[in-house]
Amino acid sequence: MCSLKDRIELFLGDITTLAVDAIVNAANESLLGGGGVDGAIHRAAGPELLAECRALGGCPTGEARITGGYRLPARRVIHTVGPVYTGSARDPELLAACYRNSLALATAHGLASVAFPAISCGVYRYPVEEGCAVAVEAVREHLAGHHLPERVLFALFSRRHYAVYAAALPWGPTAVQGVRGRRPRA
Ligand code: ADP
Repeated sequence: MCSLKDRIELFLGDITTLAVDAIVNAANESLLGGGGVDGAIHRAAGPELLAECRALGGCPTGEARITGGYRLPARRVIHTVGPVYTGSARDPELLAACYRNSLALATAHGLASVAFPAISCGVYRYPVEEGCAVAVEAVREHLAGHHLPERVLFALFSRRHYAVYAAALPWGPTAVQGVRGRRPRA
């Protein structure tokens, strides 16, 4: 069993390029696609993803749902709905629930590697420093109690967000390079 610090990695770039067991989508409650990372995931996965999402009938804020990855290099997509930032005490509770519920699904499905975007830190306006603190705490808590997923990647789409996460992980986490490309056939 690797230590906690070996199980959290950082990636600067497009989450849709990662050949991991699951990427997490920062979706909206309809699960029918949107802008930002949601739009990028649907574009890269193809129309079959939207069809599967439509059958799920939505997802409340803080919860998570799992689908196939279709044309993505990732095998699965875990869709979670982050809170729109309001500055209330409920924001970090709901955001932490997104990470916890996504990780619980990953564990239940036997997934070894999961990549998260900075949920709510785009259009939903969560300040990245605060969102990062919630993310890191929730992931550390889950990993401390579970063998799976073995690896969690934080996929950051800007150097500024990457720097915030790097500062929050004081041991200097591995910067991922090697998981891009298509997944090997099972
Ligand atoms: P939300 O509505 O939850 O705020 P957004 O998609 O607007 O979701 O933003 C969430 C985060 O995802 C932001 O930090 C944004 O920069 C980032 N992001 C957008 N596109 C991608 C992508 N292709 N890969 C990784 N992160 C992305």
